[in-house]
Amino acid sequence: MSLDALKDDVCRSVDRMRDQLLRISRSIHGNPELAFQEHEASALLVDALRQAGLEVTHGAHGLETAFSAEFGPIRQQGRQGRQGRQGSPCVAILAEYDALPEIGHACGHNLIAIAGVGAALALAALADRLPGRVRVLGTPAEEHGCGKELMRRAGALDGVDAALMMHPGSVNLVSMPCIAMAELGVAYHGRSAHASAMPERGINALDAIVVGYQAVAALRQHIAQDERIHGIITEGGEAPNVVPERTAGRFYVRAANERNLAPLKRRVEACFRAGAEATGATLEVTWGAADYLDLRFNEPLASSFRANAESLGREFFPMEQLPPSIQGSTDMGNVSQHVPSIHPMLAAAPIDCPIHNPEFAKWAGSEQGEKAALDGAKALAMTALDFLSDADLQQRARAVFDAAES
Ligand SMILES: [Zn+2]
Ligand SMILES: [Zn+2]
Repeated sequence: MSLDALKDDVCRSVDRMRDQLLRISRSIHGNPELAFQEHEASALLVDALRQAGLEVTHGAHGLETAFSAEFGPIRQQGRQGRQGRQGSPCVAILAEYDALPEIGHACGHNLIAIAGVGAALALAALADRLPGRVRVLGTPAEEHGCGKELMRRAGALDGVDAALMMHPGSVNLVSMPCIAMAELGVAYHGRSAHASAMPERGINALDAIVVGYQAVAALRQHIAQDERIHGIITEGGEAPNVVPERTAGRFYVRAANERNLAPLKRRVEACFRAGAEATGATLEVTWGAADYLDLRFNEPLASSFRANAESLGREFFPMEQLPPSIQGSTDMGNVSQHVPSIHPMLAAAPIDCPIHNPEFAKWAGSEQGEKAALDGAKALAMTALDFLSDADLQQRARAVFDAAES
């Protein structure tokens, strides 16, 4: 069977599954679950895969709300693949489903969920016509917690030759501009006292975090243009007439890559130490279990996705016309530093409605959003077919990946 015939087949499968996929998307959209708590979302997706006869591990690679299933021709024994691996190539398709506090699915991960799982179901339906192996990974905690890196450390990408996912956005883009990011929690411990009667007995934890915050604000003038520091104070004391004993905040520190991130993290930590030094409070610093890494762009894979999405009528916004200030971070960056990967965006909302805008949550439940997810499922499945059936594409994707290794 020709590649074109296989592509027609997966697109028809996605169309056939439309109602089922949209029911799942709407259900996840209507019940936003935060990082690591995506119990119902992951259960819905796992059920859909199991109904198609796939064997799924729910609670995979160390995370309760992660899942994993793999299918395709058995890897041949005794023959070493080009990368020292055995037999048929394996492509991973990733599905996210966590939401944001307060603003729900304003990042549209309900759409990512059905794009990834829809693609996997369509590929599974090819049965023995599938030209290689497919691993579908349900990846929790993208918005916070760096779930994909935790899963990678637990072996989720072992034996994978390429990783694919699609993210909704406000234009069609071959990739998302993404820099590295570290999550920081700070807490100050002071001593409470009556703020009027005996202030001299107190150690003011609010003053400490305010000094730390102001020091970060001063630091911002003297960092590289592509670096970012932003955060919130989550605990600021209990009563005006009590010297605050404990305060806390959460901050994100971003830089172009891991190498630039390390010194910036040290400078930010010094700002918060200044708050402790100035007030006598004790500082507690908690960095995230894993830093988010920048996305390593893979042109051969991205071009395959682009051509497949164009075949569905999508036109892509030129990356070079994006304002350079537009930068996000994603744990797909960590995946892309490990295997050749893509993280394209498909327009689910108008151009003036970016992700993480509360308005975007509405678009993630709209007809336009759902169209992006279904097109995403088709384009991901077709890109997986391109990769699995084309040794030259596999080789070029690997060569570009290796060349970018610093
Ligand atoms: Zn997102
Ligand atoms: Zn997001």
